Amino acid sequence: MTDHPELIEHYIGGRRVPSLDGAAVDVLEPVRNTPYTRVAAGKAADVARAVAAAREAYEHGPWPSARARERAGVLNRIADAIEARGAVIAEMEAHDTGLPITQARGQAARAAENFRFFADVIVASGDEAYSVPGSQLNYVTRKPIGVAGLITPWNTPFMLETWKLAPALASGCTVVLKPAEWSPLSASVLPEIMEEAGVPAGVFNIVHGLGEEAGAALVEHPDVPVISFTGETTTGKIIMRSAAEHLKTLSMELGGKSPVLVFADADLEAALDSAVFGIFSLNGERCTAGSRILVERSVYEEFTARLAGRADNVRVGPPGDPATEVGALIHPEHHARVLDYVRIGTQEGARLVAGGTVPAELAGGNFLRPTVFADVTPRMRIFTEEIFGPVVCVTPFDTEEEAIALANATRYGLAGYVWTGDLKRGHRVADAVESGMLWLNSHNVRDLRTPFGGVKASGVGREGGRHSIDLYTEPKIVHVAM
Ligand code: NAD
Repeated sequence: MTDHPELIEHYIGGRRVPSLDGAAVDVLEPVRNTPYTRVAAGKAADVARAVAAAREAYEHGPWPSARARERAGVLNRIADAIEARGAVIAEMEAHDTGLPITQARGQAARAAENFRFFADVIVASGDEAYSVPGSQLNYVTRKPIGVAGLITPWNTPFMLETWKLAPALASGCTVVLKPAEWSPLSASVLPEIMEEAGVPAGVFNIVHGLGEEAGAALVEHPDVPVISFTGETTTGKIIMRSAAEHLKTLSMELGGKSPVLVFADADLEAALDSAVFGIFSLNGERCTAGSRILVERSVYEEFTARLAGRADNVRVGPPGDPATEVGALIHPEHHARVLDYVRIGTQEGARLVAGGTVPAELAGGNFLRPTVFADVTPRMRIFTEEIFGPVVCVTPFDTEEEAIALANATRYGLAGYVWTGDLKRGHRVADAVESGMLWLNSHNVRDLRTPFGGVKASGVGREGGRHSIDLYTEPKIVHVAM
């Protein structure tokens, strides 16, 4: 691991600062679960300082009124600076979160792309006009909404932080970012990146700390009109309740339990490739993970056996090893929770056909062999609850109607995946699955222009492309008599 700070500090008004009360908490690495650094534990007073700096930069600084092309220039320089440090950022992420290094490199590259993409989006964005001939011209302009509060989770932290930072900054907002307390390391390079790219002091601020303290204070702060949150559904509910007091604009990217529907006429090899990638990449700690695989009965046994064989071949190992495909889960508490689900699945009567154990040579770290449960029924907790680890459930179905009913038998609705050789059925099922996003005979690859988000308990609102710009700006309509 390259050098890392002994204390990861806040970044407020262009300066790295400790918490006002000096508080900090340990950060663990997930291979041995030893504390390797400390992170400042911000409280309401630290959040107030950061919001004041962001508000000052919003009200009196050049950023909100800069031309789109100027802001885009800065965003492209941020992307350059991320690319220049890509290897180091990936190394930090692998060390801090347990993500396999090859996948962490991909996430760092995607973080740079987030900035390039929103630089392009903001330059290409125009205002709208609606004419009513002989009567009115109505035109709509957009203004940055103000100080944006960005609260992010520990899975792919750097990528998700930039997924919010890029559109917020592109829109002309100033920001306060609250990274997840279990994964603060990669965010510690953002201050130097922002400075190198020419982001004015106060435009970008970070307050680290616990969700219940720093996160809650950001949500409760009256000068933060928009909160973009990614995390668990239960946390999302708490945030929505407390944001209601100030009638804040909210974007809620929440949990998932996404189904993969495999019909007998599908290209089974392609479906297997995608299913294995969908649940075991990023350690299964992926919001859009295909964690329930529903398979037509005539190919169920064959598919399940092949899936189990593939799972057995996935290489579990140290996150820094380029051969590793599944690394260590983020934290011992999360590891214990995932292992608990393995125990629950067995008790509920599901058939364990792969994994379920911690490799002996990796004991002491948060490892788990890729785990496949077959014969899972919709009454089982492992079918309905988000596990957020390398654990997948397989369930047979007999008819299209039953497949759709099973797909929709959870409170979540983030993503869905359908595999069939019959395209008409593919469109029909794609329409019927309750999810914000659906991949039909295709892999989880995103087009950043498309709306990202979920239905039901998976979220409220959409981000991506112009949807993100809508989130961070307020429209103003001017009606002109003709
Ligand atoms: P989490 O909800 O525990 O924490 C997310 C963030 O919220 C952290 O920064 C945390 O400190 C903060 N937080 C916690 N309590 C808070 C409070 N009361 N007020 C304000 N902030 C608070 O989630 P997690 O465990 O870090 O992340 C995993 C979850 O995120 C999973 O459920 C996963 O599905 C979800 N997720 C969703 C998406 C998506 O786009 N839909 C993407 C990635 C992860």
